[in-house]
Amino acid sequence: MSEIETIKIFDTTLRDGEQSPGFTMNAEEKLIMAQQLAKMGVDTIEAGFAAASPGDFESVRDIGHTLKGPMVVSLCRTRIEDVDAAAEALKGSPNWGIHTFVAASPLHMKYKLQQDPEDVLRGAVKAVERSKSFTDNVEFSPEDATRSEPEFLVRMVSECIRAGATVINIPDTVGYTTPDEIYQLIDRLRNEVYQGDQVTFSVHCHNDLGLAVANSLAAVRAGARQIECTINGIGERAGNASLEELVMLFKVRKEMFGMETNIVSEELYHASRLLTQLTGIPVQPNKAIVGANAFAHEAGIHQDGVLKNPLTYEIMTPESVGIKSNNLVLGKHSGRHALAARIRELGYEVSGSELNRVFGEFKRLADLKKTVYDEDIEALVTQSDTTGQSRYRLLSMNVVSGTNTVPTATVEMEIDGQVMREAHFGDGPVDAALNTIKRLTQSKCTLTQYKVNAITGGTDAQGEVTVSIEENGKAVTGRGTDPDIILASAKAFVVALNRMEYRKKRIEGV
Ligand code: MN
Repeated sequence: MSEIETIKIFDTTLRDGEQSPGFTMNAEEKLIMAQQLAKMGVDTIEAGFAAASPGDFESVRDIGHTLKGPMVVSLCRTRIEDVDAAAEALKGSPNWGIHTFVAASPLHMKYKLQQDPEDVLRGAVKAVERSKSFTDNVEFSPEDATRSEPEFLVRMVSECIRAGATVINIPDTVGYTTPDEIYQLIDRLRNEVYQGDQVTFSVHCHNDLGLAVANSLAAVRAGARQIECTINGIGERAGNASLEELVMLFKVRKEMFGMETNIVSEELYHASRLLTQLTGIPVQPNKAIVGANAFAHEAGIHQDGVLKNPLTYEIMTPESVGIKSNNLVLGKHSGRHALAARIRELGYEVSGSELNRVFGEFKRLADLKKTVYDEDIEALVTQSDTTGQSRYRLLSMNVVSGTNTVPTATVEMEIDGQVMREAHFGDGPVDAALNTIKRLTQSKCTLTQYKVNAITGGTDAQGEVTVSIEENGKAVTGRGTDPDIILASAKAFVVALNRMEYRKKRIEGV
């Protein structure tokens, strides 16, 4: 058998994924996610877009300086200030690079950039040269490549390689291409560009026509050796190629492709759950690899087969993606040690004062409900208060509701360090609570979605509330959990308001 080749996984969950509606994460949450990506073994992490805002700059810097292992890159436009911001954020990090991009399609150059193609090309070369003055790890992307003129792409990419780019990424920015077409494009570029055999070709596919994974695979077959993808396939519009699907594709069909990735597949499920917890946005139940039904067998004939031999209907095991069948539950007699052990088994690392906080909340929860399930623990661990960065904090709340009374909420909050109180009514207790918070924070947002979900079964289950709010066309989501759903609603709303404040402060990416 011929030698197995390695496909590099470039994760852009924290950049392309995070900039899509509802997926905003703060710096602390991004760092938690980045640590899981590193643990999982991704080769490169695109931590963000350093020039987008001071908050993004700091987040990129923190991730770059904290992680050991993966290369951490920042995206930047071809503006020199952008390149300098990326370098400034990352220099001194153990392993870092710069990813610069500019539109290459006639449509984008004419209408979006309003620049002459020759000027665009010169700008790209300057940005690559500037990047190269800071680091050897320079990736260049001609945006909207799949709708660009191939002759122009060959010239642009050749010039960027001459200027020092070591990775050439071909983005299907709008999810327009097909497997045959991208195969031909990558093949042609590899053969025609200057020293095409000296650089790594990469792809970045979007899923607008449901082909992101198929197109990425076709690009690999044409010689690409890096794939840009995201956890749960999140990203602009219909999302990016899904990391977990690609990883398992290369693992399950390794013999056929003769390729593998460096990803520890047993960490995939945890990464997916963590992202869901941090953003409050679940994956669809039928999502490949990580959806709730991905390994569920409903038809009797299938169940019968799986019991006799799992291979009858399973091409991979749930364990191979990290789904554990252990349903051990904890209760109020469980100690700190048992809790810490369970948290570790779930894939989280919590220690010191953070463990104290989680243990305190666990005790409070265990007093309220008999059994504490894995999902409850996950919620406690990931619902860390973003203290220090948050503008708004909920201190206390009382709500009166019932028959023959006007639902009224009294809320105490800390806003920019000042304690403030307010009481207001609503057409129900949740409405009263949110109205009061809105008055206190003087928010102009509109609530676009409100969802309650019981984390586990039973009336003592914790309520998990997800709210989406919108302001000036920007959308964010917040999640809150509590056995009291009114309190869970208030928590979720405050998380969303804090995220909105964070989002307002930055210019949006590409
Ligand atoms: Mn993209």
